[in-house]
Amino acid sequence: MLPKNSLQNQIALLCVALIVVCCLALLITFALFTRQNHMYQVEKNFVYTQNVFRQYLQTQEDVLTTAAQVLTSDFGFKQAVATRDAATIASVLANHGARIGADLMWLTDLDGRLISADLGEQRNFDEVLLDLMQTPGEGFFVVLDDTLYQVILLPVKAPRTIAYTLVGFEIDAEVTTRLRDLTGLEISFFDAHQHLLSSSLPLAKNSDFIEEMQTRALPGIFRSRPEFSNYQLALNAVPGRPVGVLISNSLADFYQELDAQLRTTLVLAGLTILLGLTASVFMARNLTVPLAQLVVMARRFAQGDYADRVLHRQANDEIRSLFNAFAEMGQEIQIREQQVLYQAQHDSLTGLWNRSSLLTLLDEVTRAETRFLLVTANVRGFQHINNSLGPDMGDLCLCAVAARLKVRTGQYARVGGDEFVALLPLTPTDDRQTVIQQLLNSLHQPLQVADFNIKLVFRAGACEFPADGAEGKTLLRRATIALEAARSEDVNARFYQNGEDEKLLERLAIVEALKLAMQKDDGQLFMYYQPKLNLRTGCVDKVESLIRWRRPGNVWVSPELFISLAEQTGLIIELSQWVVRSVMRQVRQWQADGIHIHAAINISAQDLNHPDFLPFLTGALAEYQLQANCITLELTERDLMSNELQAISLLTELKSRGFSVSVDDYGIGQSSLGKLKKLPVDELKIDKSFILKLDSSATDQMIVQSTITLGHNLGLMVVAEGVENETSLQLLRKMGADAIQGYFLCRPFAAAELKPWLEHYHALSKQA
Ligand code: C2E
Ligand code: CA
Ligand code: CA
Repeated sequence: MLPKNSLQNQIALLCVALIVVCCLALLITFALFTRQNHMYQVEKNFVYTQNVFRQYLQTQEDVLTTAAQVLTSDFGFKQAVATRDAATIASVLANHGARIGADLMWLTDLDGRLISADLGEQRNFDEVLLDLMQTPGEGFFVVLDDTLYQVILLPVKAPRTIAYTLVGFEIDAEVTTRLRDLTGLEISFFDAHQHLLSSSLPLAKNSDFIEEMQTRALPGIFRSRPEFSNYQLALNAVPGRPVGVLISNSLADFYQELDAQLRTTLVLAGLTILLGLTASVFMARNLTVPLAQLVVMARRFAQGDYADRVLHRQANDEIRSLFNAFAEMGQEIQIREQQVLYQAQHDSLTGLWNRSSLLTLLDEVTRAETRFLLVTANVRGFQHINNSLGPDMGDLCLCAVAARLKVRTGQYARVGGDEFVALLPLTPTDDRQTVIQQLLNSLHQPLQVADFNIKLVFRAGACEFPADGAEGKTLLRRATIALEAARSEDVNARFYQNGEDEKLLERLAIVEALKLAMQKDDGQLFMYYQPKLNLRTGCVDKVESLIRWRRPGNVWVSPELFISLAEQTGLIIELSQWVVRSVMRQVRQWQADGIHIHAAINISAQDLNHPDFLPFLTGALAEYQLQANCITLELTERDLMSNELQAISLLTELKSRGFSVSVDDYGIGQSSLGKLKKLPVDELKIDKSFILKLDSSATDQMIVQSTITLGHNLGLMVVAEGVENETSLQLLRKMGADAIQGYFLCRPFAAAELKPWLEHYHALSKQA
């Protein structure tokens, strides 16, 4: 079933409507024309009939006149009338009447009384006769005894009028039949009351026939139609006694013929409609079938099916070119879709899978439940290659690595700048350690990039399916955790260890909480201060600021933990700014309270690299109206060495502004003396691992002593932190340390405790 407003239906409907309108117009025109033509014919017939009719009656009248004249001029007859010789009169009348075949042959006196008549029965027609006597010699139609006659009345003169003769013919059925034969129309005579006198039609005499003739109807196709077309004619009658004739033209034949023609026309119209319908359906199908095919094609395109299709064989040229354009469009879309798909799934540089494709792939292979190894590997110091050889060479290196990776069967992806992932199927006998080592060995072979022979060093983290996880996402995360662990443990390859993932999640939760604590600044984060004793002056002239985080529920989070998390997530920038502000505000506050003390602030490597760090520091100084010389910035030896050049320029800048710089945790990094010499710093802070057991460790004593000597040789202050006992303090004093810091002196405390502590300390030292 086609929809109502389908093209096919519309075309068929239009075609049929046109044909119907056309047929109707033809039909109506034809019917009107035929009818008009017929009416014209009828009219003509009437005129003709009237002539024939009049001529006939005139002839009859002439016959009557002649007969009457002959009779009235007959001398013998006149004598007989004068003498009232009844026998002679009768015989003459009979003779003359017989000669012309008259139906009336009467003789009457001047008063209209009948003298002689061929009537069997004597009747009184005086009045009629008297009326006729008004105009003797003129032919009339009169009704006598319900019978119509055509009569003529002539006087019998001798020489004066002595009587009248009346001669007449009866207008009977014979006459009407003859008239019908002559004219071809039905003839009916009627009297003053319009009662039928005689007719060529089988009608009841005296009936109200005119109304009947006018209302008689023929059944028609749509409605009934009149059977006759009638025409009335008045006959020459005696005044006051009118007689008429109704000429009726039967329409039966005409309508029969018309109906037959109408039927033929209708059949023809029906056939034309049928033909038109078939033709239009055929035509429409030629249009709609290919159109429907195009619709199906477009839907298939939408579903990504671009297969070639064969066009409906009857399609015309326009449709065919549309179809071809469609097919071409499909092919173009398919090509573009494939390109887009490729780009969406692959890494544009190396052509390896990208991260999202890798995850899809992992989902597939994890469903198969066969063992495999997922390895994430990155190039050690790739940034250095980019910096020294340029990014183009860097890209070429990555491409070469991608090609090298593919040596072993597996799936490969690039998920970050220099981070690759390999999905390596494992046989039950494969040893994963060997597999990963083989991979690294092949990667460590020198790469031919442009004209260079480049040797890259890789670090890899790996996990195994199904032992280390069931889902793709989990496996990828765990392989990355293993890579991170390899980095932090500084090994080439590392497998994921049970529980590391959970630890990571925990750490992520801590990071989130830290972010929130910083945003809210609701007192969860605050600073502690640990005094430093200047061994040269014996004064406590400095404190080190140390951050503290007490989470709701009195949960203390180790600064080492959250600081390292903040460093890994980049949160450290914001955190350091918070610390700097808090410390400066506090120092300002102490100054206002009359305590003039310097503060050391711990700074991270990322702060050092951040372009806003210096402007921020100077801005904060201005904000709290402090001199830079009351602030020392502590930077770990490792942080300073990791980005030496930048460190030098920043430290120079900091020093020029008046800040002091201290090398924190000195001794555990691997900085060479030469490098240390280049750094514009003021102080060395020997790591507490050398100090904690200084009193008992001869090695530590040796190291500390040489460090102090070295520091002094470089013109630096040397500070020892982690001094927990008197012995260590005395040793350090003897070794020439400039300052100490440690639990022996005091544990870190809240800012408010500084004043009482100082007072207490001064009191104690005075006693000593
Ligand atoms: P650090 O800069 O080496 O700070 C000294 C650490 O040694 C502090 O630990 C301090 O409480 C502790 N300490 C001081 N004297 C002794 C002692 O006699 N014996 C022992 N066993 N320990 C002593 P804390 O406060 O836990 O800080 C740990 C590390 O967290 C700091 O090491 C520093 O690297 C980092 N940190 C603390 N606060 C901040 C900060 O505000 N910003 C940055 N960037 N790092 C901070
Ligand atoms: Ca420190
Ligand atoms: Ca330290």
